Amino acid sequence: MKYFFNFSKLAYVKGKKPRGCILCLIAAGSSSVEDLTVFEDELFIVCVNLYPYNPGHLMVFPRRHILDIRQYTDAEQTRLALLTRHTLDVLDRTHSPAGYNVGYNMGPVAGASIRHVHCHVIPRYRNETGISDVIAGRRVLVENPLETRDHIRTAFAAITPSL
Ligand SMILES: [Zn+2]
Repeated sequence: MKYFFNFSKLAYVKGKKPRGCILCLIAAGSSSVEDLTVFEDELFIVCVNLYPYNPGHLMVFPRRHILDIRQYTDAEQTRLALLTRHTLDVLDRTHSPAGYNVGYNMGPVAGASIRHVHCHVIPRYRNETGISDVIAGRRVLVENPLETRDHIRTAFAAITPSL
């Protein structure tokens, strides 16, 4: 179900802004951040993006706090390739996008607001409205991130019993 949702109503960070890296807090299961995780294993976590560009916008990130993709171990690199494929398969099922942007922003100049390295997986749709630009400059989404999380989490459980 899709409807207009004002993201500011969802407090991703609960109460006071927590200290430290938000992705490390998510990895640690901290109660100070909203749990938007859809999949995790011993090396990686997949979660709904903090400020989704589009419905189904996910982030895939390593549990280790590293700042550059060249710091991935061979094991992480191998797992990431597999996990990225699974993530795309899941989104095909849950959101049926027409295409994807998959990639990294490394460094503030490149648009990274979180230093902990994370790969964006952004579904693209044929009729993107850009509605968030239209309505009074407020960020408005067409999908509740918590419903997105539940939907994608279920799909992950269904098609990736073991990575
Ligand atoms: Zn971190």
